Amino acid sequence: MELLSELKLHHPISVEDAVSLHAAAPTGRYLAGGSDLLVNVRRGIEQPGSLVYLDNIAELQSITDAPDQITIGAGVTLRELANSALVHEHFAAVAQAAGEVAGPSHREYGTLGGNLCLDTRCVFYNQSEWWRAANNYCLKSRGDICHVAPGGKKCFAAFSGDVAPALLLFDAEVELAGPSGRRRMALAELYRNDGMDHLTLETGELLVAVHVAKPSVPVTSAYAKSRVRGSIDFPLAGVALRMAMRDGRIAELRVGLTGVSPLPFLAGKLDKFIGRAPDQACLEDLRDAIRSQAKAMKTTVTPPHYRRRVAGALTLKLAQSLAQDLVEASS
Ligand SMILES: Cc1cc2nc3c(=O)[nH]c(=O)nc-3n(C[C@H](O)[C@H](O)[C@H](O)COP(=O)(O)OP(=O)(O)OC[C@H]3O[C@@H](n4cnc5c(N)ncnc54)[C@H](O)[C@@H]3O)c2cc1C
Ligand code: SF4
Repeated sequence: MELLSELKLHHPISVEDAVSLHAAAPTGRYLAGGSDLLVNVRRGIEQPGSLVYLDNIAELQSITDAPDQITIGAGVTLRELANSALVHEHFAAVAQAAGEVAGPSHREYGTLGGNLCLDTRCVFYNQSEWWRAANNYCLKSRGDICHVAPGGKKCFAAFSGDVAPALLLFDAEVELAGPSGRRRMALAELYRNDGMDHLTLETGELLVAVHVAKPSVPVTSAYAKSRVRGSIDFPLAGVALRMAMRDGRIAELRVGLTGVSPLPFLAGKLDKFIGRAPDQACLEDLRDAIRSQAKAMKTTVTPPHYRRRVAGALTLKLAQSLAQDLVEASS
């Protein structure tokens, strides 16, 4: 680990002050719980000149209930999100995903905003300075080749946040504040398929809150992940699944994926499952469909084919369990 270099630490108390402080020092970074950023700084991966600490900004800290939606401040901790009865009631997968991030101490100070803005990860990147130097760095930082796909110029570092795929199930929107004001956009648009530059945030933009509309009819959802160390690890593959049934057949189906590409995303081509009974043959087809879309690359020590298979297996397991719950609830 590197020593923490000299830097200025700002403590703004409003979103506008935070944005102004960042604009005045563009090499700075926003600091929330620090559970990702400070690790990267200590590894020499990032060297911000200043940090704008977000913990004292009241607007970021609460979960607000309205008749048709809930708003979750970016500074809400993962523990609060995982324990929120309101979030459990309407968006079970979101609460479950928050409860699956890292270990209890990370969830105590790690925030929703930090989780959604997490850097992408790769076994050739999340290493100490001397390790990366000994391997001539790589495209994502200071080098000129990708060790995962040496012939190309694309970075495949994987987005490995747990909460984003669960929020994608519910068409969540993010509220952003930047030097030119506030804007709102779909969470899906926050990400692009580029491990080197996976966030579409403009320079200095701060994620203020996530807005999620309550489904008009109750839906069931759940999240599951596979990881190397069960008590404290990033997903090798993470799956969020939302399902509704009518007359014993699938009426709605969404699957969100993380850990298997540079961005979290909703799986496509699931329309063919609508109207089918969720029997074993149907759910095994679903497993295979997800497996073919989980195009993990060699960015972890666990081989890509395992992560693809596990994404399918987790989907099968979640779909079986939700379908059974729905059948029992309707009988
Ligand atoms: C051992 C270990 C295991 C981990 N396991 C997991 C895991 O299983 N799943 C998982 O998802 N994560 C995991 N993490 C990563 C991390 O703990 C969580 O993702 C956490 O939610 C990050 O939030 P934070 O508030 O600490 O973010 P920070 O570290 O403070 O910030 C992360 C990034 O987001 C930016 N940022 C933060 N807030 C905002 C904002 N409001 N607007 C704009 N940018 C912002 C920061 O500038 C930084 O670039 C792990 C970390 C460690 C060290
Ligand atoms: S995928 Fe390639 S460029 Fe990206 S972090 Fe890994 S080795 Fe570096």
